[in-house]
Amino acid sequence: MNKVITEGDISNGSFQPKIITRSDHNISRANISPNALRVLYRLNEAGYQAHLVGGSVRDLLLGREPKDFDIGTDAHPEDVRRLFRNCRLIGRRFRLAHILFGREVIEVATFRALSNECPDAEGHDRHVDEDGRIVRDNVYGSIGEDAWRRDFTVNALFYNIRDFSVIDFVDGMSDLEAGVLRLIGKSEQRYREDPVRMLRAIRFAAKLGFRIHGDTESSIPDLAHLLQDIPAARLYDEVLKLFQGGYALSTFELLRHYNLFEHLFPLTEQALAHEEQGFPLTLVSRAMDNTDLRLSQGKPVTPAFLLAVLLWEPMRLIADRLRKEGMSAVQSIQVAGGRVLSEQAGYTSIPKRFSLPMREIWQLQPRLEKGAGRGSLKLLAHPRFRAAYDFLLLRCESGEAPEELGKWWTDFQEKSPEAKQQEIQERRPRHRRGRGRRPSARKRGDGN
Ligand code: ATP
Ligand code: MG
Repeated sequence: MNKVITEGDISNGSFQPKIITRSDHNISRANISPNALRVLYRLNEAGYQAHLVGGSVRDLLLGREPKDFDIGTDAHPEDVRRLFRNCRLIGRRFRLAHILFGREVIEVATFRALSNECPDAEGHDRHVDEDGRIVRDNVYGSIGEDAWRRDFTVNALFYNIRDFSVIDFVDGMSDLEAGVLRLIGKSEQRYREDPVRMLRAIRFAAKLGFRIHGDTESSIPDLAHLLQDIPAARLYDEVLKLFQGGYALSTFELLRHYNLFEHLFPLTEQALAHEEQGFPLTLVSRAMDNTDLRLSQGKPVTPAFLLAVLLWEPMRLIADRLRKEGMSAVQSIQVAGGRVLSEQAGYTSIPKRFSLPMREIWQLQPRLEKGAGRGSLKLLAHPRFRAAYDFLLLRCESGEAPEELGKWWTDFQEKSPEAKQQEIQERRPRHRRGRGRRPSARKRGDGN
């Protein structure tokens, strides 16, 4: 299908979608959450249209396990609430119904339109600011209009519970088969409406291993600066999705390739560009790789660690300067940490519950660098020891700290309590041995 679909075609109904019948696609109900099926059936029995939409259809078609199951319907949120006792209506920007099944939430969204053309239409409430950005959109629409307002063609497929077919208004199926990520409509306009779509393009390209279509990719570097206008809280959410989706390393590389990274972490980008190919880049890349590995093994990851890695180099550069001016190692990290975090807050917010542990991870580094000493045992008991030690290992692996230091901490943790004591005694620098809380022999004047 080479015809360019216009918004008008969709809204006046002249455009017929492709219907891929049940026997011609691989979606099986066995792979759909039973709760999602329950919601789909109930809506359908009540006479409404009910479809799986978005990422779940895309992932099912690709043989991947969907993260969650979203549903699209022509029922309005209030209609949905009447049908389900376990339903909450949420959202200010647009009303959505959440159907709660224990920990699983099935999101039900009423079909929405992108069109500006029907100012009198019922429920019309869409506003675009002077830059073309959508600030509110709550216009209910047809299923075709709902397909059109979505971001990428592969994200705009519907799985119809009525006959188990896939409905394709935007030629998403052939893009899906070809492994192509393509924005629906005119790329520049779609990015201006919502610049976060640039980040989404990178996220999906990395996650799905898809090629970004030429039209979809070519305007990104020029429009990347539009991210400056996105609220820091939304960018923070996107950053988590970018780096905690299991494809952090390739995502990071793509973000840098398309000039997007510098709008998320400008201080880091400056530091990396400055030291290109050196250990700061290795440090970040290794951390991303580790994160991906941990996620693939089902292990937890904390944003604090990754953010500590991302902002380490800019923080370190400031701390080095302060140290040259005479500040202590620990204090310089404290001050530099505060500066870097407050500047970063202008781009992505970082909740306190993560910025505090980040700073602790940083502040523990000079203490870990001391190696054997009276403080070593105390450090082991520090609640942030494990993260700080992992951080140190990364620094060692990337050539920023001596390999032996990391190895020493690894071995030290495994020793028995007696062996730990002995190690501390043996390894402490000679001039410091025997010095403790007791005043020194000379001060006591006992000539010991
Ligand atoms: P994931 O598997 O990462 O959740 P997803 O495709 O489900 O991927 P969501 O962010 O959950 O992504 O969004 C659900 C759907 O809503 C998308 O598939 C897309 O159709 C639509 N959508 C989400 N964000 C946008 C956006 N910024 N612009 C247009 N459509 C969007
Ligand atoms: Mg989703």
